[in-house]
Amino acid sequence: MLNIVLFGPPGSGKGTQAAKLVDKYNLVHLSTGDIFRANIKGETELGKLAKSYLDQGQLVPDEVTIHILQSEADKHTGVNGFIFDGFPRTIQQAEALDAYLAARNTSVSMMLSLEVEEEELKKRLLLRGKDSGRADDQNPEVIQNRINVYHRDTAPAKAYYTQQNKYKAVNGVGAIDDIFDLLCAEIDAGASK
Ligand code: AMP
Repeated sequence: MLNIVLFGPPGSGKGTQAAKLVDKYNLVHLSTGDIFRANIKGETELGKLAKSYLDQGQLVPDEVTIHILQSEADKHTGVNGFIFDGFPRTIQQAEALDAYLAARNTSVSMMLSLEVEEEELKKRLLLRGKDSGRADDQNPEVIQNRINVYHRDTAPAKAYYTQQNKYKAVNGVGAIDDIFDLLCAEIDAGASK
């Protein structure tokens, strides 16, 4: 299986690139952010719990997030692989993902990290907020909070995958298709090893 962790701060283009990678490599796209938003829209119990965290730009607690990711992944058997988009966001989530995939006799193939500097992220998120209607993209304080949470809680996952020799940084600034080509080059190089 090809299991890719697509990583990067909010606004780095993970969702955009994940959609293209899913098509090219025939993978299942698992975005915890999308799952939470669908549940908030559907007013489920999970949605009610998740809403205050999303609204404030805080992480949903690990136990909840890990459980929901696993039950979503469980729905897909006999697949080529997964793109994990926005998960893991903590070391505890990364460890849980390793354990989950090991139980399925597979593992994370690589972490691809989209690198974009902070001013560019803020610009992109505010722009996206105008079209997407996402409340967490419209409030500069919430945006700053999400970026801070990324540096504090999420960025350490890079070291986790570096130790496993699976971390690859890719420049996330430029034309969407050029960034996509860089990601594909990393995947193809990894797959041919
Ligand atoms: P995203 O769409 O990936 O930017 O995620 C939007 C929001 O959903 C985040 O700001 C968090 O509140 C929540 N979220 C998404 N993925 C996770 C995760 N792996 N762990 C905790 N919270 C998450």
